[in-house]
Amino acid sequence: MRLVFASNNKHKLDEVRAILTGHEILSLRDIGFEDEIEETGATLEENSLIKARVVSDYLADHPEFAVDGVFSDDTGLEIRALGNQPGVRTARWAGEPAVDSNNRAKALRELADKTDRRARFRTVITLIRKGKEQQVEGIVNGSIATEEKGEGGFGYDPLFIPEDYGKTFAQLPASIKNEISHRARAVQALYNLLQE
Ligand code: IMP
Repeated sequence: MRLVFASNNKHKLDEVRAILTGHEILSLRDIGFEDEIEETGATLEENSLIKARVVSDYLADHPEFAVDGVFSDDTGLEIRALGNQPGVRTARWAGEPAVDSNNRAKALRELADKTDRRARFRTVITLIRKGKEQQVEGIVNGSIATEEKGEGGFGYDPLFIPEDYGKTFAQLPASIKNEISHRARAVQALYNLLQE
């Protein structure tokens, strides 16, 4: 199948292409889509759906790309003791512009007096194909470390310890993260959906 992934993030595109073997994955750049998509939703599900719909509408006006469908992702960090915050606000939790190190500092501050440090990353993917909208999710459970550890990854990786691994995502080899991460699991679920 020929699908558009509503992203221009090279890291994500590589990851998605490695899992969706046998499918051709185009980026937003590949279809000449240049608008900024406003993520105004109150949940990961809504934001993911908004992105997929905008690109799906664009493709309806551009039949020359002959794509079979479009999908988009949205990810959030959900911290149990904070009522699943920051969730939909994960990227900009510490304010605009989004700065990863500020976000991590905020996480450590917010959890300073908390013993329950359980958290999870959740990715929601929306697929729009033949006018049908479908969603799948991927989750990795874990906890927030008490200090930053490791050099790899991005975002909250130096703070997120996936269950059963005892090390942060930033300390683990990329090969392991790419197998167990929220995004990898959501893309795997998408792959299964495409095979149906
Ligand atoms: P997005 O929806 O993929 O843009 O993710 C939203 C925010 O979640 C990002 O800006 C990151 O701060 C964070 N995030 C997403 N995936 C990861 C990850 O794999 N590790 C660490 N942080 C992540």
